[in-house]
Amino acid sequence: MSVNTVQFQTDADRMQQDGDRREFLRTALNGYILTRSGQQSKYGDYEAARTTAAAIKWQAIENLGEHLERFADNLEARGVHVHWCSDAAEARAAIVGVLKKHDAKAIVKSKCMTTEEIHLNELLEKQGYDVVESDLGEYIVQLRREAPYHFVFPAMHLKRGEIRELFERELGDAPTDDPEALTMIARQALRQKYLAADVGISGANFGVAETGMISITENEGNARLTTAMPKVHIALMGIEKVIPRFADLAVMLPMLALAGTGQRLTGYNSQFAGPRQEGECDGPEEMHVVLLDNHRTELLAHPEERDALRCIRCGACLNVCPVFKNVGGHTYGTTYQGPIGSVITPHLRGMKDWKHLSNASSLCGACTETCPVRIDLHHHLLRNRHSAAESSGGWAERMQMRGFALVMRQPWLYGIASSLGRWAHTLSRPIHGTRLDPVYAWRKTRDFPAPAPKTFQQLWRERKKDQPPRH
Ligand code: SF4
Repeated sequence: MSVNTVQFQTDADRMQQDGDRREFLRTALNGYILTRSGQQSKYGDYEAARTTAAAIKWQAIENLGEHLERFADNLEARGVHVHWCSDAAEARAAIVGVLKKHDAKAIVKSKCMTTEEIHLNELLEKQGYDVVESDLGEYIVQLRREAPYHFVFPAMHLKRGEIRELFERELGDAPTDDPEALTMIARQALRQKYLAADVGISGANFGVAETGMISITENEGNARLTTAMPKVHIALMGIEKVIPRFADLAVMLPMLALAGTGQRLTGYNSQFAGPRQEGECDGPEEMHVVLLDNHRTELLAHPEERDALRCIRCGACLNVCPVFKNVGGHTYGTTYQGPIGSVITPHLRGMKDWKHLSNASSLCGACTETCPVRIDLHHHLLRNRHSAAESSGGWAERMQMRGFALVMRQPWLYGIASSLGRWAHTLSRPIHGTRLDPVYAWRKTRDFPAPAPKTFQQLWRERKKDQPPRH
């Protein structure tokens, strides 16, 4: 069992025992579901809009190389420096290179899961940079020195009292439970950071090939300040974020808002097409776009798996997932949690260490049903399970499966096995729930049903005996 598998099980067990936290999360997510369905009902034909969104992303992914080149050419024509990075190390090096060139010390960041993916903050902090997250949720988890809990709602697991205590401890502010007052405390602290920042780092929700723009969606206005106030703006973007046309945003932005937060449209949707041009009064003096592959092209090479690259990171599949609701975001131990995280992480970070995530699903299909770009998530999870089983080096598991197949194919063996199973169940009763129980770990949260008084074969024989012979 890999370290990550053990960690997942330990954290999931811990979460199982924290009924209060699970209830708190469920209430929050139920609120999202209600708000979302209210907004969704306002669409004339939501399913048609969803099909269009899926088609736009599909077209983008199917012709990814062509769209990326057009995107980069258009950006460069407006003076943007484009960096093509095949992995996390190259992307980190490109970003640090820009920081060094400008002798930057202070960095302000807007929310960007791709920077989490390449572990940028850890590296920059280690190298002595002053890095601050400007999204409120990200700022809170940064102060707590922990990873985002959910890639759209990073601090959704925290109650108001916990945030109050955090601000008192870290910012030395007067205690308050009022959400607006807490927001103002964070804003006050952050304003100074924008003013002092040498470089602003953002992500990108979409990259428009036709116009060479990056599009950023947010609710707090912090991304606008992050990208406009410092002299240099660096945007880090996964290559799958490109879409063909500017008009596609008319479909994608409302879809992202609805699926992500249940809004009709997110508070701020900004497009950035380069550094400040002659005659313009604001914007950065220099702009860089860092395009990250990091195994995405390997996923692209899989005809059956590549549609996972359609993901717009709205987080809707997490919000409806019964496993996410019960185990919580940190248990996954990944940048991208929930169903989409379980689908892509084994491809991005290795099946060997992350195959257990394929089992972090009840396969109920709620994720597939909610996905605004129609990714067939639960079938991807099934396929991942298949690949995990095929690549598994566990001879014990393979022998068990072969034994099971043999027993299921031979009725006489099945008869013996089911009788033995019934005996074993009865005889082992005194050790159930103790460490002597061979399935102790499994039985901690569930149990086998009691065996029926008679086996199917016994019932069948009895029934045949009672029937009059046919002539
Ligand atoms: S897989 Fe679909 S529902 Fe999940 S985050 Fe991506 S786009 Fe949203």
